[in-house]
Amino acid sequence: MPEVAYLDWNATAPLLPAAREALLAALGHPGNPSSVHAFGRAARRTVEDARAAVAALVGAAPPDVVFTSGGTEANALALAGYADRPVAVSAIEHASVLAARDDAVRIPVDEDGRVDIAALDAFLRVRGPALVSVMFANNETGTIQPIEAIASCVHAHGGTLHCDAVQAAGRVPVDMARQGIDMLTLSAHKLGGATGAGALVVRAGQRPAALIRGGGQEQGARAGTENVPGVAAFGAAAQAAVGGLSGAAKLADLRDRMEDALRAAAPATRVLARAAPRLPNTSCLALPGLDSATAVMAMDLAGIAISAGAACSSGKVRPSHVLAAMRVPADVAGAAVRVSLGPSTRQEEIDRFVGAWSSLAARRAAA
Ligand code: PLP
Repeated sequence: MPEVAYLDWNATAPLLPAAREALLAALGHPGNPSSVHAFGRAARRTVEDARAAVAALVGAAPPDVVFTSGGTEANALALAGYADRPVAVSAIEHASVLAARDDAVRIPVDEDGRVDIAALDAFLRVRGPALVSVMFANNETGTIQPIEAIASCVHAHGGTLHCDAVQAAGRVPVDMARQGIDMLTLSAHKLGGATGAGALVVRAGQRPAALIRGGGQEQGARAGTENVPGVAAFGAAAQAAVGGLSGAAKLADLRDRMEDALRAAAPATRVLARAAPRLPNTSCLALPGLDSATAVMAMDLAGIAISAGAACSSGKVRPSHVLAAMRVPADVAGAAVRVSLGPSTRQEEIDRFVGAWSSLAARRAAA
């Protein structure tokens, strides 16, 4: 089988060697972190070391970190945990945020996917101290929000800002204290940890009501015996991510050169959200009129893994609510695919993708 180019890091990042090591080490030791004997204390140390590493990644204190089963649960905890407050979410949030509260007001975005702060301000003027959820960076387009300006607006009205930083953490600097974020969602498998672990980081003064009740784990914020191996891998990945931030400029350069090469070889190619600040690794592309599922399959046949539509719903391609909110025309939105790179992506993988994409465009033009 020819070597596969994995260009779908926003769906899940390959497990980092350090995370794998931490995972296997934790699997090899019995011990419930709530047990008082030596085995239990060792498991507790593993969890608390990971908590400190996760907190350090996002400018928080270790007690702020509530481990969950992933980003989806952390988003549910943040939004459902403040059921008594009015809530606004940006129109381009991940499905797990949009589904968490039926009564959420959706704040519009501009053509590059940036939140309309004037509309948010108008909402807060009427509804008062609300819960607002705006993602740090979008999973489909990579658009980065002006999060500090959004935080100032929310706080000026006495509100609370939750931020889904699942795609941003480890790719761009995230600092809750400096950026004014009150609650933040993380997912281990986007960072090089394993699936099934994540966190809601809650700054002092905030306290969402627990969704899962029972034992008093996670300071009562989330009951259930901790996923020690998953948490251990999460901690290792978070630690690696702090060191990896310095590679962002190189990654952005690789992505930008890929987009330039695609547009030179296949001029019909559209790059979405290019005018906005974006994650260094993400590119949302379209050959207008060519169904995105067809493009993904053509790339798969060429040994290249990319995604169509929303990140987490690959395999069930639906029109993207993100691109609809950006008012992207239907023939472009229906053709959009996401290419996402990582620190170990090689130039030859990009070259293969550019070659396969250009042949697809040429076959389409000739048809
Ligand atoms: N939020 C964003 C922005 C995501 O991209 C994803 C997954 O792709 C999630 C939340 C859900 O995270 P998890 O897979 O850990 O439940």
